[in-house]
Amino acid sequence: MKDIAEIRADFPILKRKVYGKPLVYFDNGATTQKPQCVIDTVDEVYKSYNGNIHRGVHFLSDMSSEAYEGAREKVRSFLNADKREEVVFTSGTTGSINGIAFSFGERYIKPGDEIILSRLEHHANIVPWQMMCERKGAVLRVIPINDKGEIILEEYHKLLSNKTRLVSVTQASNALGTVLPLKEVIDAAHSVNVPVLIDGAQGIQHGIVDVKAMDSDFYVFSGHKIYGPNGIGVLYGKEKWLSELPPFQGGGDMVDKVTFEKTTYNELPFKFEAGTMNYPAAIGLSSALDYVLKIGREDIASREKELLKYATGRLSAIKDLKIFGASDRKISTISFHIKDIHQYDIGMILDKMGIAVRTGTHCAQPVMDYYGIDGTVRASLCFYNTIEEIGLLAEGIEKVKSMFA
Ligand code: PMP
Repeated sequence: MKDIAEIRADFPILKRKVYGKPLVYFDNGATTQKPQCVIDTVDEVYKSYNGNIHRGVHFLSDMSSEAYEGAREKVRSFLNADKREEVVFTSGTTGSINGIAFSFGERYIKPGDEIILSRLEHHANIVPWQMMCERKGAVLRVIPINDKGEIILEEYHKLLSNKTRLVSVTQASNALGTVLPLKEVIDAAHSVNVPVLIDGAQGIQHGIVDVKAMDSDFYVFSGHKIYGPNGIGVLYGKEKWLSELPPFQGGGDMVDKVTFEKTTYNELPFKFEAGTMNYPAAIGLSSALDYVLKIGREDIASREKELLKYATGRLSAIKDLKIFGASDRKISTISFHIKDIHQYDIGMILDKMGIAVRTGTHCAQPVMDYYGIDGTVRASLCFYNTIEEIGLLAEGIEKVKSMFA
């Protein structure tokens, strides 16, 4: 792996100061910062070859289309998917899940059918299913969690039945950091012929994701969480599902022949890409994936593991600090409370020290309800963070405590 100073130099924003203090960015779970190569790639699209994709016969349109399809191929190989037809671009994780929930509901769901989620889900993997269930008269079933913030597999096995139509779970909890036992979840669902969607919003950036080895039927993620631009996401689906599912949006490009009597749809993956896609962001995402591959996914995972271990040790040593989420398998995310100090106060004071953390429910209210709390402070680390920054966080928390003492 490159030297940490060299890595940090790749991210222009990490050089900036906030309130005169060096920025310590620990909100990577919400969005990651962008390396110069990604910024340059998007800049280059607009500067030198912007033209709407798949539409024109002209030079710029050809160039943009080629780069966009190149980005699709990059995503395919990054995920180790079989075919480029299985990679659909969307606006993000939320867009991907809403799309599948709509299509799957239209195609397969009848009153009384069941969808299984876990209690660890982000609202983006709850609400679209709830909306679909309301439309179709279906029911959500929820895998419960234990005090360590892990799903209870025995309960999951009990929920699977001949009414189950789909299981949709996150790869890792954005609120607690827990990594889910995906192999067990997917194998059990497949043993009763139920497909599985994995929300990879907090998984894709932390290690190697191989959809073939994982055997998930759908896998979704957002570009902005893996050092890519905003406004682009991915919906991977096995060809056998995508070819059966109806489109979730209608418009230009997703069609074959349109008459007022009947419209036929384009082939995969275009059937799911209606209207002008965010091709500059897709091309930027391709550059982000190249960057991640250059740093090395195994190296990223092992560096983040070290950072998590050190941060957990430093924060656990602080008196009256309680960490939520104690699974042995976690991404580099730490959610915590300090006794008698509200999380917003902690977040706001740390901010004045230049330290960006997240406070609140992290769009995972059912997790907060489980612990009977109204939110946490969350520090989500990634490979460009340093041991020194963790030290600054620990010192910052001690200062907050002394201010409230
Ligand atoms: N799922 C999880 C686990 C997440 O962490 C997030 C973002 N916090 C989302 C879904 C939604 O992602 P986006 O807002 O990029 O669509």
